[in-house]
Amino acid sequence: MATTFDLISPDFLTITRNNEWHLDAFNVPNELYNVQVWDTGVIYFSPKNNASEQEQAFVFSSAIHGNETAPIEICTDIINDLVSNTLAIKHPVLFIYGNPAAINISERFVEENLNRLFSGRHTKADPESNAALPFENKECERAAKLEEYVTRFFELHPQAERTHYDLHTAIRDSAHEKFAVYPFIHGKPWKKQQFEILRAMGVTTFLLMEKAATTFSYYSSNEHKANSFTVELGKVRPFGENDQTKFASAKQTLINLLKGTHFDGESFDATNYQIMTVFREINKTDESFELSFADNVANFTEFKKGQELAKEKGEAIVANEDGEAIVFPNAHVAIGQRALLTVLPTDISNNLV
Ligand SMILES: [Zn+2]
Repeated sequence: MATTFDLISPDFLTITRNNEWHLDAFNVPNELYNVQVWDTGVIYFSPKNNASEQEQAFVFSSAIHGNETAPIEICTDIINDLVSNTLAIKHPVLFIYGNPAAINISERFVEENLNRLFSGRHTKADPESNAALPFENKECERAAKLEEYVTRFFELHPQAERTHYDLHTAIRDSAHEKFAVYPFIHGKPWKKQQFEILRAMGVTTFLLMEKAATTFSYYSSNEHKANSFTVELGKVRPFGENDQTKFASAKQTLINLLKGTHFDGESFDATNYQIMTVFREINKTDESFELSFADNVANFTEFKKGQELAKEKGEAIVANEDGEAIVFPNAHVAIGQRALLTVLPTDISNNLV
């Protein structure tokens, strides 16, 4: 029989960190909830005797990047309150700590960025037989398993509206401290209610993506039709050094959602938001690629038309528009990969529900 834990001492985060890549599944006796640990870092709560109220199903993921501690702390607080029955919720929830081994080394990842491995990117096929090759590394295997768990969770609640918030903090400062990436939804309308929920978390800056991606949020959006976002809640800091007041509204909003609070999309007002769309994707095509601004320049910093953004093979890459703002710059990507996005404000009033 598998080892079981009460999840109180040690708590689920500690157990997860002690079992970096695998933990046998087990159930945890609990008065209010069906509590099931599906794997290391993967725990499911479903209220007992409450089937009629399960019209929402939530996935809250953290530690897809291991050193992004604030979201881990938020989720740990909620998990521990659920385990100890000091928090009463209505809706089922799956919590995921994405990369426990990376948490333990305080790094984004061990071998490969987990948030570039979803939607099948974790598995490569043999070009001759088309059979799946063994996973290239443990993060690939983890991404495949996380997809299975998200699928299992949503299948357990087939009637529920699906929501997934993949919680992160950023390495770089941001001109807008909190922001969310709205994955590409293939022309479907953006949801006012989701904007309002995220605004309650303190997020008013949105980046609307315009193509498929290998991120966790695009996976759950595209594969499971979930309301899905990559949510950047602030800046990366070590455990214990996060200013909890900066994350209080995010945590409280997640709790309110689980408790069944209704958020009214009709209060949506575009003037409360900074909604941006991708203007240009600048790929690194040569080893000589370098950014023309300092490492401490914040995400969403605006440039003037003609200002230099980067340099490659001795040639300047400049802003094409006034107000072109930079996001996710990284000169250290592999050749052919995206080194920088630039974004511009957009008006989405004609495609909102
Ligand atoms: Zn991250």
